[in-house]
Amino acid sequence: MTDSKTPDISSPVLVVGGGLSGIATALGLALKGRASIVLESSDLLGGAAAYSGGMIWAAANHVMRNQGIEDSLELGESYVRGIAYAHPELLDEAAMRRWLEVSPEAMEYWEQAGAIEWEIIPELADYHSDAPGALPLGRYLTNAVIDGSELGEWRDRIRVSPNFPVGMTYAEMNVKGRRSSSVAAEEDLEIANHAGVPAFGRAGSNDGAVSADSDPLTFGTGVFAAFLARALREPLIDIRLSTPVTDLLVDGQGAVVGARVKAEQGEQELHGPVVLATSTYDWNPDLVREFLGLEPEDFSSLAPTSIQGDGISMARRAGAAVAVIPATSVPMVPGWSSHAPTGVSNGPEYALPHCMMVDTSGKRFCDDSYWVQIVKHAIGDEPRHLPFFLIWDEQHHEKYGLGLTPPGGAYPEEFVFSADTLAELGDKLGIDGDELEKTAFRFSESARVGQDPEFGRGSVEFVQRFCGDPKHEPNPVLGPIEKAPFYGTRLKFVGTGIGSSGIRIDGDGHVLNESGEPISGLFAAGSVAALTTMGSGYNSGFALGRGLALAYLIADELTRA
Ligand SMILES: Cc1cc2nc3c(=O)[nH]c(=O)nc-3n(C[C@H](O)[C@H](O)[C@H](O)COP(=O)(O)OP(=O)(O)OC[C@H]3O[C@@H](n4cnc5c(N)ncnc54)[C@H](O)[C@@H]3O)c2cc1C
Repeated sequence: MTDSKTPDISSPVLVVGGGLSGIATALGLALKGRASIVLESSDLLGGAAAYSGGMIWAAANHVMRNQGIEDSLELGESYVRGIAYAHPELLDEAAMRRWLEVSPEAMEYWEQAGAIEWEIIPELADYHSDAPGALPLGRYLTNAVIDGSELGEWRDRIRVSPNFPVGMTYAEMNVKGRRSSSVAAEEDLEIANHAGVPAFGRAGSNDGAVSADSDPLTFGTGVFAAFLARALREPLIDIRLSTPVTDLLVDGQGAVVGARVKAEQGEQELHGPVVLATSTYDWNPDLVREFLGLEPEDFSSLAPTSIQGDGISMARRAGAAVAVIPATSVPMVPGWSSHAPTGVSNGPEYALPHCMMVDTSGKRFCDDSYWVQIVKHAIGDEPRHLPFFLIWDEQHHEKYGLGLTPPGGAYPEEFVFSADTLAELGDKLGIDGDELEKTAFRFSESARVGQDPEFGRGSVEFVQRFCGDPKHEPNPVLGPIEKAPFYGTRLKFVGTGIGSSGIRIDGDGHVLNESGEPISGLFAAGSVAALTTMGSGYNSGFALGRGLALAYLIADELTRA
């Protein structure tokens, strides 16, 4: 057993989960001389991280410093504190300060170790631009492009994001708009498939042209690939795919001393300290019900289906406390049923011009281009606005399409309803049609002048830049709904592997029991741990950023003799 006074650092650390936090932890351990076994349940590495946007938020980071962008830990702290205002009691002050302080150091460390080549994501402001300490640029980092060939035979063992135009950079996407970029990337993939280029991933070059000998990886796929490429050079890391951990081994004093795994050759017990990096509970309906109060018809996820809350359940059985963040503060985005592999699609379509969201009364209920407000009101208002619907017109259809349907394409009839009038559409969807017509009329009047006095759609800079149509004027997210036919679909909330609720940890990644004491031998990195570090506020990039900071801290502790 590992004794806290004289730790035995010769045994391998068991890292559970081969996503970003897991691979980064294993890399950190190897760089300081300790072996690890990465146990991954699925046959692919990367987890939700490889599906993600690859935005990593770090206040006062070294890249900003090098480029002369002013920031400070104090400003970063006022921002995090400012956006946690809804439930200040949920914010773990000590953990927040530890995270903010260690983030810049950790990001610089990973770069110096050759795990990543940071770039600032251009033109991207903090979500809540009116919060104290918010900055218009600099805190979002991502990896410069990495070529898939650096992964050698592991290239076809990583997940590639179906949610972002992998191969394209943020700068390129900003010019084209996110929706147009995604549609273009789908087309590139089609061409690549026909050309006999490996269909895995986006085999397109940065200018969108397909090339058989270039395999640029960007967004979360690129960030993960960069860490993995570096980790693969370390002989102290043993990565085992298709090896789910089913339970933790606990000794008579309550310390975690190992893990039980289901390997090809049957059940096995492995011994050593355990780092849980299994992410959230998106594909576990019982935990979704417990933490979010949502039934399967109102919830799905963009995260891989291997993310089933295992780490949370195992840690609970070993005596860990769970922290619950209110569902109204959980980062979830609106999505719709589709023929995508997980049965659900999501994209910026709901925040593009010529569409709006309503509940069954036919009325809007919030800034329906901004997921923070949508979650807050759809779930938080009394009564709730569930079910809720996306309503759009032919202009939206022609310009943007929806999910797998390209602009002007035919929507799947089983999911998308259409009608020549909004009243008729309302009847088909179970919405008050008369009210829907009135709502669309008011919405269109506002959209024409580019302002939404009722709910402020189009006023959030992050949404304009990340989701809007850069070519649409006067406002990239506001356009009238007036051209028949009209369309509608029922929406559901879609998790993104950021469940907010999860295992309670301290600022160093120690898993805590119900008395707030660390459980010896048990650590957690990444989104398996509750986001008490940031309380109830969220900004894109917090999840991956905290994961990398925790990986750095845990690896450091587990290599100190
Ligand atoms: C579309 C999308 C966009 C996103 N964009 C961003 C963004 O830009 N910035 C940001 O910060 N966050 C973003 N996120 C969220 C972020 O990706 C996740 O919070 C993050 O990946 C969690 O990292 P992790 O290392 O904790 O887990 P993951 O990267 O999800 O990895 C967990 C791994 O654990 C494995 N696992 C699960 N159970 C077991 C078990 N029992 N045994 C062994 N292995 C197991 C899983 O298969 C998986 O590979 C996004 C997510 C999605 C889906």
